[in-house]
Amino acid sequence: MAKRSISDLVNSYLGESPKASKDLADRFSRMQALRRKLTHDHPHTASASLSMDHTDPPSPRSKTNYAPWDRTALLHRLSSFKFVRWPFDELKYPRLAAPEWAKAGWICTGPCTVTCSLCTKSHVLRLTDEPDVDVALCGKYAKLINDHYPNCLWAKRRSSDSTYTVSFSDPDQALTDYFLRAKSFSSLSLANLTVLDPEHTTTSTPERTLALFGWQARPSFGGRHVAYCDMCFRTVSLEGEFDALHNHRAYCPWIAGSLPAYKVLSSLCKCRKNMVIDGI
Ligand SMILES: [Zn+2]
Ligand SMILES: [Zn+2]
Repeated sequence: MAKRSISDLVNSYLGESPKASKDLADRFSRMQALRRKLTHDHPHTASASLSMDHTDPPSPRSKTNYAPWDRTALLHRLSSFKFVRWPFDELKYPRLAAPEWAKAGWICTGPCTVTCSLCTKSHVLRLTDEPDVDVALCGKYAKLINDHYPNCLWAKRRSSDSTYTVSFSDPDQALTDYFLRAKSFSSLSLANLTVLDPEHTTTSTPERTLALFGWQARPSFGGRHVAYCDMCFRTVSLEGEFDALHNHRAYCPWIAGSLPAYKVLSSLCKCRKNMVIDGI
């Protein structure tokens, strides 16, 4: 059979031909089966992308649906982009990175599916595992970020980059949150854990290193202890070696940008050295 051109493949996937749909369904089933096997065979590896949050994704029109300045609402939309439903690698496909879509008003409502939180328009973004085809598809998909129904406010103004940041507007609160995150690990046994700190910060305990990088404990996840980030929604098993920096998603404000949040917090801690909370 003649080899199909990339543009044929792209068009067939975009046009949802019966064969393409079947291919995609098969691929999705294989991905799910692989994921189930990974979870069973390598719980540590698989846990890196499991989400703790079992609540339903936010539904369109469910609450105040247009507030681009609202950081909490942005995080709520972002939390719907769980890895199992939005598996795009943000380094390989930065234009499909979840924060970009959440900032533009979209929530993830199904496998590779986004729905506008205001006008309810939906798009399905599927890749093919064929690199050349996927690059072309990604270029087409990136344009959909502004494809809303007419007069949707999200097409006019989206959340700014500064909305997706760790807040230090109240330094005392930021320090209190830091100590509470560190304290959240105190009830866990971390004897078998090595916390890697690629930035060589000068925290005094593994718990403080984890907290400095924005991690907090969630002790009851399938019987395993895990650390959780409430900015990029990563959940990682606390076993073996734990890289406090690289376990975040690449876009997470705790580690991303020229002045990542852990550096700001580190400076703040040095200024308030004497602050102590019992048990840490
Ligand atoms: Zn819309
Ligand atoms: Zn994070």
